[in-house]
Amino acid sequence: MRVVIIGGSHAGIACAESLRQNGYDGQITIIERLGGLPLERPPLSKAFLAADPDDESRFALRNKDWYANHDITLKTGVEVAAIDAGSRSVSLADGEALSYDRLVLATGATPRRLGGLDAMSGVYELRHPEDARSIRDAATNAASAVIVGGGYIGLEVAASLTKTGVNVAVFEAADRLLARVASPPISDFFTTLHSDAGVDLHIGSHVADFINDKGAFAGVTTANGKTLSADMLVVGIGVAPETGLAEMAGCAIGNGILVGSDMATNVDGIYAIGDGALVQTDGTDAIGGEAAVHIGAGIRIESVHNAQDSGERAAAAINGHAPPSRQAPWFWSEQYDARLQSAGLVPPPDDDTVFVRRPGKRETGFSVWSLKGGMLYAVEAVRDPAGYMLGKTCLERGLTPDAAQLADPAFDLKAFVAG
Ligand SMILES: Cc1cc2nc3c(=O)[nH]c(=O)nc-3n(C[C@H](O)[C@H](O)[C@H](O)COP(=O)(O)OP(=O)(O)OC[C@H]3O[C@@H](n4cnc5c(N)ncnc54)[C@H](O)[C@@H]3O)c2cc1C
Repeated sequence: MRVVIIGGSHAGIACAESLRQNGYDGQITIIERLGGLPLERPPLSKAFLAADPDDESRFALRNKDWYANHDITLKTGVEVAAIDAGSRSVSLADGEALSYDRLVLATGATPRRLGGLDAMSGVYELRHPEDARSIRDAATNAASAVIVGGGYIGLEVAASLTKTGVNVAVFEAADRLLARVASPPISDFFTTLHSDAGVDLHIGSHVADFINDKGAFAGVTTANGKTLSADMLVVGIGVAPETGLAEMAGCAIGNGILVGSDMATNVDGIYAIGDGALVQTDGTDAIGGEAAVHIGAGIRIESVHNAQDSGERAAAAINGHAPPSRQAPWFWSEQYDARLQSAGLVPPPDDDTVFVRRPGKRETGFSVWSLKGGMLYAVEAVRDPAGYMLGKTCLERGLTPDAAQLADPAFDLKAFVAG
């Protein structure tokens, strides 16, 4: 039996590892279009941007011996060009064809682009190590940068560049930073953090025009007609799932490759995992208790935890094992000296939702608890690992502390969780 995995990043490698841990002893081949040893993605907007270019091996997802030690064939620098689901084979761009018994699509997602910038130098996106290298190189000669997009990646890059002495301006079209993923109190916290660090924030503001100086990015014009000169532009406006190969194979597609809770697509023998997979479940096998419904029907999560978890789920299905138990989805971000940890999925603000701020143990630490319809949906903790752990446990056990109790620093949350 042979398992072929397309994509050698967080999800693909987690799946290969889990197959071996589950006792699978057939062939495993990972095909990755980028060259070199696969590297972790989260540091690319954080420590990697300040790291010594000769010391990248510390960011490797696995060290180079790991693949041979686990009898996993890693083919890098070659793209899968086509899938023939009928004959169960994939064709590589270099002409090689490989047959498979099970195929795992771990092809991730691609940054969305702004129109009209393709021909301009000095414009960057950030998904892969080569993108981060380009940003790092550009930043060494730049005095100023514009970032379009006030999501996690845009803000992490803003913090990293600011720390190296670059003057940064951030443009976010929504009415708050992190609007798609974080609660309003967390948006407020990061707004203050960046303002205090000297970042020029343009919230609720579009870039009206990009200034092109002889083919190079030279700055932007703001919606109210001001000109802002800058040496480089980073675009961080979200990603689109990679679905091309899946479509070619006959897989059903929505805003991602459609899979069930076992990560199987509608095409026999083909699985999809990681950022590209859109999971459709009835919620009954989701995280414990009532909180199950929150990650119920139709969800595509972009995080390391989801990449790992979905890889393990596909591996269990391929091996015919029971799936791993559910954890609340978790995520982290690092900006300046602040570490955010979140668990669950933050609901969009509405009349039915309250966001309760709870002080942490440390003076500058706190957590924000999102309750919707009286039920806990998410916990976001800044400089407060204990608050995060307690919140994650509540989510996994289906426990919802009372809003007034949560806001009260004297309330013994630990005892509440212990039951
Ligand atoms: C800068 C940055 C910072 C992040 N920070 C955090 C963080 O702090 N916390 C967190 O939880 N998450 C973070 N994330 C998100 C996290 O890294 C992603 O959720 C994770 O990488 C998803 O893994 P994946 O394997 O599904 O996809 P990807 O990492 O996108 O990998 C997909 C791989 O498939 C390969 N591929 C695609 N098509 C083909 C083909 N046809 N043939 C061969 N290979 C192909 C691609 O080259 C790529 O290497 C960050 C992401 C980025 C980019």
